[in-house]
Amino acid sequence: MDTIKNIIIGFGKGGKTLAKFLAGRGEEVLVIEKSNKMYGGTCINIACLPSKRLIIEAENGVDFVDAVNGKNDMTAMLRNKNYHMLADEQTVTVLDGTAKFLNDHEIEVTTSDGEVKKFKGERIFINTGATPVNLSIPGLQESRAVMDSTAAMDQTTLPKNVVVIGAGYIGLEFASMFAKYGSKVTVLDLHSDFLPREDTDIAERIKEDLEKSGIKIELGVDITKVDQEEVFYEKDGDKYVAKGDRILQATGRKPNIEGLGLENTSIEVTNRGAIKVDDYLQTTVENVWAIGDVKGGPQFTYISLDDFRIIKDQLFGDGKRKVSDRINVPYSVFITPTLSKVGLNEKEAKSQGISYVLKKLPVAAFPKAQVLKDPRGLFKALVDPDTGLILGATLYGAESHELINQISLAINQKIPANVLRDQIYTHPTMSESFNDLFK
Ligand SMILES: Cc1cc2nc3c(=O)[nH]c(=O)nc-3n(C[C@H](O)[C@H](O)[C@H](O)COP(=O)(O)OP(=O)(O)OC[C@H]3O[C@@H](n4cnc5c(N)ncnc54)[C@H](O)[C@@H]3O)c2cc1C
Repeated sequence: MDTIKNIIIGFGKGGKTLAKFLAGRGEEVLVIEKSNKMYGGTCINIACLPSKRLIIEAENGVDFVDAVNGKNDMTAMLRNKNYHMLADEQTVTVLDGTAKFLNDHEIEVTTSDGEVKKFKGERIFINTGATPVNLSIPGLQESRAVMDSTAAMDQTTLPKNVVVIGAGYIGLEFASMFAKYGSKVTVLDLHSDFLPREDTDIAERIKEDLEKSGIKIELGVDITKVDQEEVFYEKDGDKYVAKGDRILQATGRKPNIEGLGLENTSIEVTNRGAIKVDDYLQTTVENVWAIGDVKGGPQFTYISLDDFRIIKDQLFGDGKRKVSDRINVPYSVFITPTLSKVGLNEKEAKSQGISYVLKKLPVAAFPKAQVLKDPRGLFKALVDPDTGLILGATLYGAESHELINQISLAINQKIPANVLRDQIYTHPTMSESFNDLFK
């Protein structure tokens, strides 16, 4: 059995960045990836980039099938680039195969041509991502119409009617996208609150805008069964049927530990099925780390990338960087217009008893929104009345996915709201909205 200095299981964001970094230091790295369609990981192949490309193409009025073809060209290009980024390194080997632990430090890889190889790793990094949660609604998994987010982006024709199960962030992005391409979309969700974690005024505006774009949103429903293209549900005691030639299951993703052979190791798993890690991403076995979605917590590419930074710092730096330092993690939901948030919203500040000054303006007040012909939305920020520091912001409006990073920087670097208020911004831009928002 060969002993390898660094074994990375899964070609994910954090893992591939770590592999490249280790190669730069001349270290031996074995990257194991179970699918040659997944070099570069989930984000570039089946998630962030293809979905955003399709959303933007819908906004640009491109035909759905052309958009899917263009998206496929893009992912093929990125996959090839990612493969060579690692495979062309002298000290890196990319192995096509599925890895499984035999014990704490040894793994077995079943390669794509059926060969079984065994390796011992001095360091092992698990970066196997997450997989969609399959609901156990009677008839759903047997339905010819059912699809997950990956299949949703690979349709050869535009579905006429799409039923989206789950009004979470991914479900809403797809709902908004299919509606823009011209599908008739119905969103069904178990919860009676829409976007329950967001402030009510923000959630209400989003719901209203989605409904105005033609999407039917049914909340507080109990889906009783699916019969091929028919989704049967009950709401307030009444019975309904939603029809969809495609039914998108968008009810979350779970850490991907299936088949990893963790039962052969002392690597522990949390009660939510994620690999248990400490503040430095070490598992319960020495010299074995977990990176990205598989360790639970927020599922974002940039979190997986930040996991790389924590490990890099631990192996080669002062070892101070840790998970618990990531207090203000921004996020964006790419509906149109975008919803972005960082830090606290009103709901959270109130529940934690934190006092704040509220800054709030409709997006229609900003000149650039008129230029963009999209005055929908609402910007909100919370400022600490004693220090003038920003406690958080929820920006629902055009280009908020770019703006939120400025607020995030201000929060993390303790730049007071007044600095953003008095900053000179170019014009016309959405950034200049901060001149007014923080007045
Ligand atoms: C539709 C959709 C849209 C999204 N949009 C965004 C977005 O806009 N922005 C954002 O930040 N995040 C987004 N996400 C989330 C983001 O994609 C994930 O958080 C991120 O890709 C996780 O990366 P990772 O490093 O954990 O591993 P991944 O990139 O998931 O990589 C894991 C790899 O491990 C491989 N693998 C698994 N098991 C084995 C095994 N046993 N042996 C060998 N290989 C194995 C898999 O094939 C895969 O390639 C989106 C997700 C979805 C589903």
